Amino acid sequence: MIDFLCLLKNSGAYKTFINDKKTGALSHAYLVVSPEKQYLNDYLKVLAKIVACNELEPCLNCRACKAIDADSYADVLSFPKDKESILTADVEALIAESYVKPVENDKKIFILNHAETMNASAQNKLLKTLEEPPKNVIIIMGATTTYPLLSTVLSRVKKVEISEFSDDLIVKALENDCQNKEKLLTAVQSGDGTLGKAKSLYNDANALSVTELVFDVLINMTSSKDVLKYSNKIAKAIDVTEFISGLETVLGELLYLTQGKENLIKNTNHIPLLKSIKGFNNGSILYALEKITESYKRKKFNANPTMLIEWLIFSILEGKFIWQKL
Ligand SMILES: [Zn+2]
Repeated sequence: MIDFLCLLKNSGAYKTFINDKKTGALSHAYLVVSPEKQYLNDYLKVLAKIVACNELEPCLNCRACKAIDADSYADVLSFPKDKESILTADVEALIAESYVKPVENDKKIFILNHAETMNASAQNKLLKTLEEPPKNVIIIMGATTTYPLLSTVLSRVKKVEISEFSDDLIVKALENDCQNKEKLLTAVQSGDGTLGKAKSLYNDANALSVTELVFDVLINMTSSKDVLKYSNKIAKAIDVTEFISGLETVLGELLYLTQGKENLIKNTNHIPLLKSIKGFNNGSILYALEKITESYKRKKFNANPTMLIEWLIFSILEGKFIWQKL
């Protein structure tokens, strides 16, 4: 879980919301501009909590804070409904809802993410509500750019920003989800100051190294002496489940190859590598795939990761020798 509250605390948007709340001067409409596309909705939810929570800063423990996180708070309504772009129907629904009194809170909060995707007619529809909103309504719009927004809209909202974050902050936010510290650091440093970019760079780098390790094991692990070396290396470098699933993919491809169904292999760039894996036949590949199924079960029962990998790759090696002798 990413600690969005901690991440946002020093942003301009957060400080403005806190200050406006403290002075009793919350605006009826905000536009939050941030280069972050993937997590902007989570950021908007933090700001909605500032408005809804009884404490000055979100306590994260009250009914409002928890229900906003779970998207189940009756007085916070989020648009767009399709999560992609704001349609005229979204704006119409927002306007209709704005006349319905809040149920649990004294404020009714609307989150309108991807505001930059609104066409002119949707923006014009929204304009009247922005000009004279029903009492106690607060609209929090989010956008990655203001360029597509009409000047009439821009002039009726209070603009705040969540800018790029420092590398340190991004690392701190993502370190629970991205356990390979070194790789995370590289991803963050090559990113653009947004969480989304860092996360996708990390995942790309990780996917690559999983496949590399899988081929390394299948091509170069030739004796039981290698087992310990590889299991330590794998458990240290990547998530065990990712390795098992990568191994499953490659063994499936190897099975196609040994069965003469090369055309069914989707990752055609794997083919030369698959051809350099020696000593497997249909029997030992199927045996290995059975062991993979079993390893998922063992993983569920919290087996020690290094020992699980050790057991799995040893079994695969063992199967290879058994089937060679038959
Ligand atoms: Zn709270």
